[in-house]
Amino acid sequence: MIQFQYERAATTKAAVNALANSSNAKFIAGGTNLVDLMKRNITAPTKLVDINQIPLKDIQQQNGKISIGALALNSRVAEHKLIIEKHPLLSQALNAGASPQIRNMATVGGNMMQRTRCHYFYDTALPCNKREPGSGCGALEGLNRMHAVFGTSEQCIAVHPSDMCVALVALDATVLVAGPKGERRIPFEEFHRLPGNQPEKDNTLQNNEMIVSVEIPDNAFGKNSHYMKVRDRASYAFALVSVAAALNLDGKVIKEARLAMGGVAHKPWRLKEAEKALIGKPATEETFRQAAEIAMQGAKAFKYNAFKLKLGPNVIVEALKNAANLV
Ligand code: SF4
Repeated sequence: MIQFQYERAATTKAAVNALANSSNAKFIAGGTNLVDLMKRNITAPTKLVDINQIPLKDIQQQNGKISIGALALNSRVAEHKLIIEKHPLLSQALNAGASPQIRNMATVGGNMMQRTRCHYFYDTALPCNKREPGSGCGALEGLNRMHAVFGTSEQCIAVHPSDMCVALVALDATVLVAGPKGERRIPFEEFHRLPGNQPEKDNTLQNNEMIVSVEIPDNAFGKNSHYMKVRDRASYAFALVSVAAALNLDGKVIKEARLAMGGVAHKPWRLKEAEKALIGKPATEETFRQAAEIAMQGAKAFKYNAFKLKLGPNVIVEALKNAANLV
């Protein structure tokens, strides 16, 4: 049984202070991942700061962007009129994640902070550099079917498990965070990090910082976007490969494109070179196939996940075809 203190914070400032005044304290909101991690002895915070009373649940249109509070529930965001109208890609990605029960508990901030689902990370009898730096990586030579093909290091080949974050990186979102020194904004693409030689660090949040909201700038992708997720079973499973695709079409010509993948890297994987290759081209399967080839450049498979090198480009093409209404 882990002993820990429990404290409620009613404001962002109080929450940040509560964390700063205690070593190894953590925020808790929905708890859909953190409680599991505590039950399995993977993490043992000395204090939990409950942030559920802080008024950070709003979803609102502001000047040229939609702001989503960090404590907005995944289910509420997915069903919100503004999100369905303006960013259906985000709604689809959210509904592809977890189960209805979990989406009713999980918050946007918590979704971003969830940890990898690598089996070795969850089994404390096995080595894992992310759980215990320096202990080794069980997945490198082990069962690595679910693992990354982009941006891996010799220390860690885990993938980020979120669907929501794949859509948010494609939508060029920004993360507003608050810390002891005030607020700052982090481009979504820079929020999660690659493992490098510090796989224990999932993101670029600094000490005692808290996610306040996510901001999505207005765009012209509402009519032509699609989130496609391939997984081992039809629901309540993490992605083998997923793709967020969004197009801004002028007739049949692609004016703008956004592409990101999930299930392939330690962070939501934006495909900027493939996006560039789409611009100015006709929205055809051949164009999409060429972009998918570019997208997969640099991918490296391990013993059991080589299938992702074939699955990846096929999912990109299918997601783009759906986005362009070619199916
Ligand atoms: Fe741990 Fe990363 Fe290796 Fe999985 S892939 S065992 S999370 S170090």
